[in-house]
Amino acid sequence: MLKLNQIPIKQLKGVSAQKEGELHAFGVHTVADLLDYFPYRYEDYRVRELSEVKSGEKATVLGVIRGAPLLQRYGKGKSRLTCKVETGGLLVTAVWFNRHYLQEQLQLNREITLTGKWEQSRLQITVSQSEFPDSAKNAKSDSLQPVYSVGGSITQVWIKKQILSALTHYGSMIEEVLPFELLQEHKLMSRAEAVRCIHLPGDTGKGQEARRRMVYEELFLFQLKLQAYRAMNRSRHDGISIRVDSETIRSFAASLPFELTDAQKKVVNEILLDMRRDYSMNRLLQGDVGSGKTVVAAIALYGAVKAGYQGALMVPTEILAEQHAKSLQKLFGESGPQVGLLTGSLTDRRRRDVRAGLQMGLIDVAVGTHALIQDDVHFRDLGLVVTDEQHRFGVNQRSILRRKGPSPDVLTMTATPIPRTLAITAFGDMDVSTIKEMPKGRKPIKTYWVKHSAMERVYGFIRREAAEGRQAYVICPLIEESEKLDVQNAIDVYVQMQQAFPDLVVGLLHGRLSAGEKEEVMSGFASGEAQVLVATTVVEVGVDVPNASLIVIMDAERFGLSQLHQLRGRVGRGEQQSHCILIADPKSENGKERMQVMTETNDGFEVARRDLELRGPGDFFGTKQSGVPEFKLADMVSDYDVLELARENAGRLVEREDFWSNEAYAKLCSILRKDQIFQGEQLD
Ligand code: ADP
Ligand code: MG
Repeated sequence: MLKLNQIPIKQLKGVSAQKEGELHAFGVHTVADLLDYFPYRYEDYRVRELSEVKSGEKATVLGVIRGAPLLQRYGKGKSRLTCKVETGGLLVTAVWFNRHYLQEQLQLNREITLTGKWEQSRLQITVSQSEFPDSAKNAKSDSLQPVYSVGGSITQVWIKKQILSALTHYGSMIEEVLPFELLQEHKLMSRAEAVRCIHLPGDTGKGQEARRRMVYEELFLFQLKLQAYRAMNRSRHDGISIRVDSETIRSFAASLPFELTDAQKKVVNEILLDMRRDYSMNRLLQGDVGSGKTVVAAIALYGAVKAGYQGALMVPTEILAEQHAKSLQKLFGESGPQVGLLTGSLTDRRRRDVRAGLQMGLIDVAVGTHALIQDDVHFRDLGLVVTDEQHRFGVNQRSILRRKGPSPDVLTMTATPIPRTLAITAFGDMDVSTIKEMPKGRKPIKTYWVKHSAMERVYGFIRREAAEGRQAYVICPLIEESEKLDVQNAIDVYVQMQQAFPDLVVGLLHGRLSAGEKEEVMSGFASGEAQVLVATTVVEVGVDVPNASLIVIMDAERFGLSQLHQLRGRVGRGEQQSHCILIADPKSENGKERMQVMTETNDGFEVARRDLELRGPGDFFGTKQSGVPEFKLADMVSDYDVLELARENAGRLVEREDFWSNEAYAKLCSILRKDQIFQGEQLD
């Protein structure tokens, strides 16, 4: 027998060739797709008491006509019809625009339901929909009406009709996908019933329950995929077992300029243990900005090299690549593992040398940007790949680097603490190590929010810090439409600063400088030669100048919360008290709230949580490649409890003895939608 996903949509009577084409554009090809084409919201036509309705809200009320209608015409075909209606003990004015033809139906003492916007101060309802209960055939009142995403020649009415017809003819063929025991355990309705109730919530009164069931299904299947992938990876035993010697690590750690925090020791142990195993490590290292992730990566890379392998560290910007290459070589010592830098702006000659060095194994650790994942880069013996500030790399790019070795271990570091809800969604296939503690002696950064008018005082602040031998960043925003404007803006600020501080050295860093120029400016600031660095967000991630104690962020309302937190993390890296000044005159409530959050908390996890709330998951990483799928129904913030449940359930299922042999479970994994599969990392 045919299945629903084998029945083309044109089998439905109302679907012409033209409509078929338009449906395809919505991703609807089969009857199954149409039944899964869920409304994105509902219109609420359930009758309410006016006393429950807030002013400005849209609602449906039942009333009785208590006056003669009044029609005013103006302009071409335009009209305004008003009539007194009694509802809930109040006499209100109902207003219709451009519906003159209703006039004769508005008879004294007739019952009427009105749907529209209630304005309390004027005792007025602006009607968008009205009907007469005594005569209505297709009464909409007393119901929730689904609203679908439509366009072209496809209208709400038309698509509702098709879905209704599909439900009537094919509804009984909707198959269950969830294991029976889970349906029972969570008292979920069957898939067939849920699909029906989602489209017809008014008739069934079970819209909420239906949504819960479908959200669970969506999240469960997604989690199942992730966890199955993880389990499969772990059972393969074809990874490299990197036998890192504990003594080697201990003496390297002892050579560091500081003692590791307990949190760093803990994650180092987790990582080394994982590296020794014979499956490929797939681990996320997260910790707040400034918590000391770089040195953890350095230890892992050192261990890999000492065990006979090469390592790679991939970072998002050239500045960072250079900084990391330098600091790694310093930590390793001249006679230690050799570090090679591979970025886009190397000379051809230099690049050839580094590539040859990697291929022959003369270079032990490659540090670089995207240049690391070019086709012509080969390693002799790649054992460990570390990606830093990973949210800037797509999942795809990470998996390309992974393929540079037979099956290297992968450590992914993220500087933006990820709210748990996103972590288990985007990184559910990974093991997670978290640094929960800052190095000793750090003082929490003090953050202030001031208006532009307070600029003079900000100058005073910069002057004081400089007088104490400290340094300051001044950050100018990126205005996305035009890099040229950004650069001009940064140059203007730079000139301002030079005028304000004729006695100080001011540096300028922006994206239009050549790699050599950037490097020169950065090292001038790092060495303390320049006291003030005016920069665009090129310094956002990773840059480490511990003597800098002040960061001034211009037009701070233009930044997202996580980005502001990242920028703020450029200071507070030494023992002195550091400050962050946000200069902003935000117009929107959202902007004000972001500034508020920054002054209230220093905790990156809290900032991330608020960021997610304010922005929603789609924007959180700023890229669709981030590995966070777009769910049809589920909302990662408000459906958080279902997400946790689904994750737990999926984990339990994958761990069952019979998971891999059971055909029903194998089928479960295969019905996941394509966009929910990690690119390049398919389950088969
Ligand atoms: P992030 O986690 O943001 O990448 P970094 O690795 O850049 O943080 O470290 C921030 C700063 O703290 C650096 O200057 C680093 O040298 C220093 N640091 C790291 N670990 C410790 C420690 N255990 N004690 C003191 N300073 C440390
Ligand atoms: Mg870092």
